Amino acid sequence: MLSHNLGYPRVGAHRELKKVSEAFWAGNGGKDALLETARKLRRQNWETQRAAGIDLIPSNDFSLYDQVLDAASMVGAIPKRFHALIDGKANREMDLYYAMARGVQREGIDLHALEMTKWFDTNYHYLVPEFSKNQSFTRYSNKVIHEFVEALQLGILTKPVLLGPISFLLLGKEKESGFHRIDLLDNLLPVYISILEELADRGATHIQLDEPMLVQELTQDEQVSFHKAYAEIRAAVPQVNLILATYFGELADNLALAAGLPINVLHIDITRSIHSLPAILSYETFVSSNKILSLGLVDGRNIWKNRFEASLSSIKQATRALGRERVWLAPSCSLLHCPYDLELEGQEDILTPEVKNWMAFSRQKLTEIAELKRLSAIKWKFDPIFLANRAAQGARNNSPLIHRPEVKAGVAAILPADLARQNTFSQRQLIQKHRLKLPLLPTTTIGSFPQTEEIRALRARFKNRAISEEDYHSELEKEIIASIRWQESLGMDVLVHGEFERNDMVEYFGERLSGFVFSQNGWVQSYGSRCVKPPIIYGDVSRPFPMTVRWSAFAQANTIRPMKGMLTGPVTILQWSFVRDDQPRQQTAWQIGLAIRQEVLDLEKAGIRIIQIDEPALREGLPLRKKDWAQYLEWAVGAFKLSASAVADQTQIHTHMCYSEFNDIIEAIANLDADVITIETSRSQMELLDAFVEYKYPNEIGPGVYDIHSPRTPSVDEMVLLLEKALRVIPARNLWVNPDCGLKTRKWPETKVALQNMVAAANLLREAVAFSEK
Ligand code: GLN
Ligand code: ZN
Repeated sequence: MLSHNLGYPRVGAHRELKKVSEAFWAGNGGKDALLETARKLRRQNWETQRAAGIDLIPSNDFSLYDQVLDAASMVGAIPKRFHALIDGKANREMDLYYAMARGVQREGIDLHALEMTKWFDTNYHYLVPEFSKNQSFTRYSNKVIHEFVEALQLGILTKPVLLGPISFLLLGKEKESGFHRIDLLDNLLPVYISILEELADRGATHIQLDEPMLVQELTQDEQVSFHKAYAEIRAAVPQVNLILATYFGELADNLALAAGLPINVLHIDITRSIHSLPAILSYETFVSSNKILSLGLVDGRNIWKNRFEASLSSIKQATRALGRERVWLAPSCSLLHCPYDLELEGQEDILTPEVKNWMAFSRQKLTEIAELKRLSAIKWKFDPIFLANRAAQGARNNSPLIHRPEVKAGVAAILPADLARQNTFSQRQLIQKHRLKLPLLPTTTIGSFPQTEEIRALRARFKNRAISEEDYHSELEKEIIASIRWQESLGMDVLVHGEFERNDMVEYFGERLSGFVFSQNGWVQSYGSRCVKPPIIYGDVSRPFPMTVRWSAFAQANTIRPMKGMLTGPVTILQWSFVRDDQPRQQTAWQIGLAIRQEVLDLEKAGIRIIQIDEPALREGLPLRKKDWAQYLEWAVGAFKLSASAVADQTQIHTHMCYSEFNDIIEAIANLDADVITIETSRSQMELLDAFVEYKYPNEIGPGVYDIHSPRTPSVDEMVLLLEKALRVIPARNLWVNPDCGLKTRKWPETKVALQNMVAAANLLREAVAFSEK
């Protein structure tokens, strides 16, 4: 039995990589500092893993930006637009790498970056490789070789980790029509093989190929490609132990495919489905082979202590069927998705020792793996470490901090009627039109206004107790009033208060709900140098006090126009947090739904006529396999409706979505039954509307006309064109005019111009529509 690790976080326990990368990008030189920091981090990671007792330690899991970009760079998958950066020039690898990651705008060059998208169902974003027809590949970056050699020089024989060739192709995107990216395998394989051969020549005994696509549905062609790729790889490096890593889900109908590939070790994630382990242990072809099974039993996606008793029982099942030598232990996936080290959480008033004792961050997870290996070889029942683990589980299971009977009773008492508004949308629409008296094509924004340095500094001063609550509030009130006056002068129809009091749309609510804790150093890479510190939901969730009413009521008191109340929805709060693992996600989502429902009712009581409940993460919660979608959508839509449905018909509920394509879940979105949805579309020139040709979206909708992710200000004409496009499939009485998303990342000057143009575009179209209806 060996223990191994699939990957370790790489931004540094104190986000060291972030700091040096950003300094380098800002053009302040510092290339040497960057490379030196990167080297230091790799070394620390290797040494930490060795000290924890991990037998096989990965290399090439480090990345300056992203592991998929690393793979693209390794095989020379460099889109044409970047060629000018390197043609005929030496030493351009790093320049090119960051150009593909971040785009370049300098000295007359203007190259857009690769697209970014979510890595499976995580909150990590990878860069999407671009492919053209008949594209060729050549070895470009030797990073994987360098890092293997670097570790060897430190006395550590590592296991290089590479994104496997099939997942690499499937995670990319065709940039022209007339081919499928999997067709490029023949061109790609020789490059992979050449790298694997060199690693073998340099002494690598084990190589890990990540093929997470094996947990999703595969076409016939894709399955055939797996066989072909691995047969060729096997033949090229017969002496190397090939580890095929799958994670984030179960193999299910790809089990025979994965288990049948000519590899030595198959890694499966057993944290995500109770079927994974029994399925493979009852698969005779695998059991009777001599392949090794790597058990991914320490959850790499969450921060809870492993349940040793359950893990030891899984290990026992596996060793009984396969023998001890054919079972390895590992985290479920790379530890990239976990924070570094629980020991860095110093301040006891934030993460109390009691709650801390339920948790394990990446460094603790390494120890868990080593301990499980040790325990599995002995009579563990009376081992002190085992007993301590069991005691921690017991304390957690029974803690009154977690279990609040009144919250559980609240969820148990939910009735179907609680998930529905009193009357149908068409009845509500009449009542709301009468009450709100908005013009045709009403204009609004999504909630946040630019977060200036001053606003951030103000919040920081309050947090550090450098100013009193009174002063803080009065400063915020000044900002709100200024933004109201400014929206009124523009002619905006439905106003927002600007969200100046919020650091982050999930954190703000997490800090005010019970059942959440926050780490101080629990940073997790989101993309490139960006890290997030997800809230930790550890207990039953409730809302002790109103969270937003004060600000919304204040804002409404200062204008006669409707002021939107602004909330984050239950699915998004769930999705962007570390979630408890001792009850189904649905249960937690519904607890949050109930808390938001109370907030919605309090806003209504305070005279707020329009309430927006943002659910930008609804889509990213979708399970990886389509067959599981319906079940997820049912409870996720239910959680939203629970939060939204208690109000009277005359109160208008909005929701907002962004960050993904929605065409394939448009019916679920309609089932939310929000009176109005504002939704991202402008980057894709309203691709969303394609879905509306066949499906008539029933309620009101504001497809974004202004791409807030770019500093460009769209012209009036551009927005008129987009709106005209929308009017072809959406009746004018249902159409709203708004940006794509909140404006907090933008600067004031461009925001003002863009919104002025937006209101002008709405005015122009109103006239046109009124004229055509005469
Ligand atoms: N109301 C939020 C804002 O305007 C929505 C942000 C989001 O959708 N990501 O910032
Ligand atoms: Zn948004």
